[in-house]
Amino acid sequence: MLIQTINLSKSYSNYNVETSGIQDINLTINQGDFISIMGPSGCGKSTLLNLLGLLDAPTEGQILYKGEDVSTFSPKKSASFRRDYIGFVFQNFNLIDSLNVYENIELPLVYQKIAPSERKRRVHQVMERLNILHKEPFFPKQISGGQQQRVALARAVVTKPELVLADEPTGNLDSARGQEVMELLAELNENGTTVVMVTHSQFCSDYAQKVLHLFDGQLVTENIHLGR
Ligand code: ADP
Ligand code: ADP
Repeated sequence: MLIQTINLSKSYSNYNVETSGIQDINLTINQGDFISIMGPSGCGKSTLLNLLGLLDAPTEGQILYKGEDVSTFSPKKSASFRRDYIGFVFQNFNLIDSLNVYENIELPLVYQKIAPSERKRRVHQVMERLNILHKEPFFPKQISGGQQQRVALARAVVTKPELVLADEPTGNLDSARGQEVMELLAELNENGTTVVMVTHSQFCSDYAQKVLHLFDGQLVTENIHLGR
């Protein structure tokens, strides 16, 4: 078992107004799973993904990673945990505008103190896989939304993380590019990476082995896809 959530809940409080993000989520994620989280807008998908990625802390409940409770980690400890184990693909990309495509993808390897020659090899490998080699010297503002999305995916997977968390990974892509991204995620998954993805798209969800449906902050059903 890679991740277990126990009565995981998150509520937001703004100007004395409480909004529930998710409530009492009990979920098990095994190593090598490919999980899709679906549900209507506002049902808590991003909230759950942010908690699983230690980007936010729960208001109640726990998240265990390989049995260790990570929900009480300090911000610093969370950051180093993320850097070592998790790759994120955010809906809004979160690319750094002052770095070019190559440098954006390279950054997580710099943080991991990987040697320059090895960084170059790995960055080029993933750029080639995602058809963005020709965009190497460009800055995020100079490339299309779809290309930015593929740069964001490249950055998420270049460290070969144990867990990839993806929020609408094909949201801005046409169907051919979307399929490329899903095939890369499926390939990573076949090589042992655990993938948890949030999506509105049935096309994307069909790549997953397991589909979780959220409604109003609660887990309503869990389907297993057989014979992917
Ligand atoms: P999606 O439904 O596609 O996940 P949203 O537009 O609901 O996107 O949310 C985008 C971002 O805005 C998320 O990071 C979420 O945490 C934040 N957000 C959503 N609702 C609120 C809100 N009521 N107040 C402040 N931030 C919010
Ligand atoms: P989804 O990703 O499924 O669209 P979210 O996780 O973004 O859903 O939101 C779940 C609920 O939590 C919504 O009611 C949303 O408005 C609320 N919410 C999300 N982020 C925030 C925030 N930062 N502040 C206040 N409310 C939020």
